[in-house]
Amino acid sequence: MMDAREVANRVKALQGSITKSEPADILSQIETLKKEVVPTEEILRTTKAGILMGKLRQNANKDIARAATEVVAKWKKSIEQEKAMKKGKASASPVPKPASPAPKPAGTKKKFEGDPEKRKFTADGVDVKRTGSSVRDNCIGLIYNGLAYRSTESVDSVLQRAIEVEHAAFKAFNGETKEYKEKIRSLFQNLKVKSNADLGKGVMSGEIIAEKFVHMSSQELMSAEMRKQNALLEAENMKKAQVPMAEKSMSESLECGKCKKRMVAYTQAQTRSADEPMTTFCECMNCRHRWKFS
Ligand SMILES: [Zn+2]
Repeated sequence: MMDAREVANRVKALQGSITKSEPADILSQIETLKKEVVPTEEILRTTKAGILMGKLRQNANKDIARAATEVVAKWKKSIEQEKAMKKGKASASPVPKPASPAPKPAGTKKKFEGDPEKRKFTADGVDVKRTGSSVRDNCIGLIYNGLAYRSTESVDSVLQRAIEVEHAAFKAFNGETKEYKEKIRSLFQNLKVKSNADLGKGVMSGEIIAEKFVHMSSQELMSAEMRKQNALLEAENMKKAQVPMAEKSMSESLECGKCKKRMVAYTQAQTRSADEPMTTFCECMNCRHRWKFS
């Protein structure tokens, strides 16, 4: 690679050969410049290499003209690439990227290669101290454990998602509130359900963004399999509830919506998962009207 001074000397030598009309020398000097010069606009201008090479394209000697034309084309291309790169760099840094919905986490994309059943932030060697609050850091760790469980996603990817989820919950439930802690625990529990593998995958892929994840109902968080089982359980409990009223309790506090009499028998059953309220099945002993509430 030549520096500017060397290029200038070569250009002078080439001009000398042109003056002396020595085609063999001119051709070899053009070749040298073609090979050795790393063209920038500044070098080509200050050394006059650009102007000289441009003129040589019209040389009476066809070989010289063709060689010079090739060099000019090569230099032009290099300078255009240089300009494009500068432009790219200049616009990339100050302009912030538009927020796209949950892009794939950047960083190490290396798949996790250990036993995915045993993954935890402690086992993965992850430092969850990200917020300055031990409560929040623990929540990041908990979500990490949920997302990493049975996953082969990289440590960096899982950690980034865990941080996103914790931040979204922190924002949605107004800081370190009871609701915030309950939500994090509930999300963790749902992520750990074996039949619910799609949930964690959805969060990792960006299909379920953090802001949506923290607002999903327990019904939405459940796997299709669990929803089916719960529907069956509910149907069974409905049947059980249709037992003769002798087995049911009477309540003075319940009023029949139809006849307005306070002669209501009721029974309670768990129709959904254990963490949801009981359903109360009612029957009016006066008009046989039946209903349920929870
Ligand atoms: Zn009634």
